[in-house]
Amino acid sequence: MSLVLSDIVLTYPDGDRRLTALDHVDLSVAPGEFTAVVGPSGSGKSSLLAVAATLITPDSGTVRVAGHDVTRAGQAARTRIRGDHVGIVFQQSNLLASLTTLDQLLVMTHLSGGSTREAASRARELLDAVDLAGKEHKRPHQLSGGERQRVNIARALMNRPEVLLVDEPTSALDHHRGERIVSLLADLTRQNGLATVMVTHDLATLAKVDTVLTMSDGGLAAGDDAEAAAAVGGGRSPV
Ligand code: ADP
Ligand code: MG
Repeated sequence: MSLVLSDIVLTYPDGDRRLTALDHVDLSVAPGEFTAVVGPSGSGKSSLLAVAATLITPDSGTVRVAGHDVTRAGQAARTRIRGDHVGIVFQQSNLLASLTTLDQLLVMTHLSGGSTREAASRARELLDAVDLAGKEHKRPHQLSGGERQRVNIARALMNRPEVLLVDEPTSALDHHRGERIVSLLADLTRQNGLATVMVTHDLATLAKVDTVLTMSDGGLAAGDDAEAAAAVGGGRSPV
């Protein structure tokens, strides 16, 4: 398993009490497995991704990423594990306004101190894979929403992660563009043996995934499409 979360409890301060965002959650994702997490707003989906991404330390439970026990690692080791093994695509596109598509990817390697020439060829290969080969010199404002999301995905894969975490990749896109993004994630997951976890409200995309899990009130359960549909309110996207 590339990603293993065991018995995770996460609470946030909530006035003079604590709010339980993740309530004894278990999640394992194998290489090449595309897992979707669905569930209503506020059920803990983004918190789950943040814990898997090693961005938040849970109150209890263990997180293993590519064989590394993150929960026992110090801050520096955790940052290194994240940089080497985890690709993250956030809900909001966080591209740098002044950079071209190619540079959005290359900046990842500059940050991690890798070789420039190898990075350039990796970046071109990824932009090709996400069908952006002709857009490498465009800046974000010159790209469509779907194109920006594909830049985000390519950038997340620059350091050849084992684990890919994606939060609501289709929320800003129309139906057709959303489907293309999810097909792309499915292809990349299989071709690169990624353990991919995608949070989604978009039930139409579930046909492309291997495993559907439903988050409800901080608990995660195996769920088929019908249960998932009930959990997100009959397939309507909450605004
Ligand atoms: P989802 O992504 O499913 O909408 P979240 O993981 O964002 O759910 O949130 C789960 C619960 O935790 C919600 O009740 C939310 O209000 C709360 N929450 C999320 N982030 C924080 C935070 N940084 N501080 C306090 N409460 C938070
Ligand atoms: Mg969320």
